[in-house]
Amino acid sequence: MTENLYLLLAGGVGAAKFIDGLANIIDQKNLKIIVNTADDIILFGLHICPDLDIITYTLADLIDRKKGWGFRNESFNCLSRLTHFYDVNWFNAGDKDLATHIYRSDLITRGFTKEQITNIICSKLGVEASVMPMCNEPVQTYIETPIGELHFEEYYIKYRCEPEIVNVEFRDIEKAKPAKNVLQYIKNADKIIICPSNPIVSIGTILGVERIKKALTEVKEKVYAISPIIAGKTVKGPADKLLKWKGLEVSSYGVAKYYQEFLGHFVIDEQDKQLQTKIEELGINVYTYNTIMSDLDKKKALAKYVIDL
Ligand code: GDP
Repeated sequence: MTENLYLLLAGGVGAAKFIDGLANIIDQKNLKIIVNTADDIILFGLHICPDLDIITYTLADLIDRKKGWGFRNESFNCLSRLTHFYDVNWFNAGDKDLATHIYRSDLITRGFTKEQITNIICSKLGVEASVMPMCNEPVQTYIETPIGELHFEEYYIKYRCEPEIVNVEFRDIEKAKPAKNVLQYIKNADKIIICPSNPIVSIGTILGVERIKKALTEVKEKVYAISPIIAGKTVKGPADKLLKWKGLEVSSYGVAKYYQEFLGHFVIDEQDKQLQTKIEELGINVYTYNTIMSDLDKKKALAKYVIDL
């Protein structure tokens, strides 16, 4: 039997829930995952890639599913010592997690690219899916607010997404080139799935990497997405505020408008059934299902529904 190849576009927490379900029903080896790296940040002198780590720990079955990030059974001794030295008391990184950041930073010093490092970390953690950063070049999301310009992680964690969004900048995105094989995977994948991630700062950044969006528009009929917005609300995070900033409706319809150029199929939550016709008028096939992934069974059910479409 030939096996299908699935290419996923992913952010962090929302994507990881879907990937958790998917990796439980199909062989991980058939998954290629392009991950947002515009949330990456250097703190305590360490290179931290929040979305890559969430996806990697999920596939390695090490993730803390309750929190949605970091390792299970984690301790925070090193972090509490670090806060004696650094004036940074808002970022959470456990001891085991810090080991990943130390290792990544060491490999960066030794000249490895982000793509190579991701490969090495995945193989050492027993991950069989191919996980790749959206690009090797550093890209950083900054949110301009009335209290100043904030790195996305600072806006999200330290300021709990409270400051008004004046502008969003994907710094250096114009220098970003797709990681190796990404364009080939877009061409060859049987199905491309855009995870239920933040459309603007997780998926929008990947789309901003040279040629990725154009390549997707050429294979629109095999591009599927799951809406991260349910009944006009985000499950978590600032997707609502960012959609508003973009001038888009805070709904599955707003997300569909943003993806319209390259989206062939859209799974929206059954609570949003009334939006189906309006979204179909954009030329997108729409399906409704329970997209709230509150436990492993629901994650698996949604993943199965999407791959069976
Ligand atoms: P982040 O980078 O950690 O913020 O994670 P992502 O960008 O991958 O995901 C954030 C998005 O996931 C938010 O817009 C949430 O609304 C969405 N999300 C989280 N959990 C769920 C869920 O169970 N179902 C759906 N449909 N969306 C979810």
